[in-house]
Amino acid sequence: MIATVGHGFESEAINPEDQVDAPFKQNIFSIAVCPKCDGPFFIKEELSGVPGEFEAIADEVVLYPAAVRASFENTPEPVKRAYEQAVRCYSSSAFEACALMCGAAWKRSGGRKGSKAGIWTAS
Ligand SMILES: [Zn+2]
Repeated sequence: MIATVGHGFESEAINPEDQVDAPFKQNIFSIAVCPKCDGPFFIKEELSGVPGEFEAIADEVVLYPAAVRASFENTPEPVKRAYEQAVRCYSSSAFEACALMCGAAWKRSGGRKGSKAGIWTAS
């Protein structure tokens, strides 16, 4: 994580003095860099809680990089299904499930550990 900023603080308190124990919501925006490829990530987290009592990240969305839609013209159906599941997992921040579905797409395409390409190629 290289930078984090909070934005859009919203408290349910009616008077500013009541903010101390009123539930609140706030967006946290972060910029992070991938330790492997140095690629940047822009992440939005929704923080909610009660000041001084608890707070938790309610939602996390990766704003950048955007999920890329690939072309499936010559892709076998089982590979396509696994890939589409992976994209859905990624966009709902289920990153472990995304990794599993990427592995499934790779296996269904004939990819083996250590190999660089699957059995099908675009023609
Ligand atoms: Zn990376």
